[in-house]
Amino acid sequence: MRTNDPLPVNEMFYTLQGEARWAGTPAVFVRLQGCNVGCPFCDTKHTWRVEQENEVALWAMLQKDADNERYASMLPEDIGQTIRDQWPTVRHIVLTGGEPADYDLRGLCAVLERDGRSVQIETSGTAPIRASDTAWVTVSPKIDMPGGREVIEQPVARANEIKHPTSTERHLKQLQALLARGWHAPGTDIWLQPLSQHPLATQRCIEWCKQYGYRLSLQTHKYVMIR
Ligand code: SF4
Repeated sequence: MRTNDPLPVNEMFYTLQGEARWAGTPAVFVRLQGCNVGCPFCDTKHTWRVEQENEVALWAMLQKDADNERYASMLPEDIGQTIRDQWPTVRHIVLTGGEPADYDLRGLCAVLERDGRSVQIETSGTAPIRASDTAWVTVSPKIDMPGGREVIEQPVARANEIKHPTSTERHLKQLQALLARGWHAPGTDIWLQPLSQHPLATQRCIEWCKQYGYRLSLQTHKYVMIR
């Protein structure tokens, strides 16, 4: 795949980023179709398969219900133009999925940053990041998932923040084993994010944050019931 090839876009929507460093920031989310990491707790399983029969026109993708497999193939310039048309004042764009790092994002970053917007990429850490040097990379490491993909060094080293979905001691140990490899840059923010909104899950993460000096990332959009 080349830098300016079309990307399969499952949905684009305007909301607030709910998590980690950019929490509270108005952002357009661009959700790309396609992921075979296979996380059991995935809340976007409809993005896993890229089937040509599900390709639709841009207008149909923009108007569809959120949780289905339909997508539009969009050139980076088309994505930039859609944002210019629909959300001209937005300053921050989140590229999510699916697994956006399965695609070469350099062309899209160039278009969005040329328009004066900041770009954030949310990734599982299982594919090399192909993005601008200035894009903010959030690695949410998906360790030992059924899809069999491994977390690799390049995205962890490139990460501006590591945000780990956590609910059990096993999750905590997995994160700590990853950090012990020393791939991440000094000063990278390390966040624990409770896997659910259950108070017990949050309380555990709070205790571990206090014990190990991590930061707490809540999925604030779920508490205020926005997307
Ligand atoms: S990496 Fe993300 S999109 Fe892929 S299965 Fe895991 S949670 Fe779902």
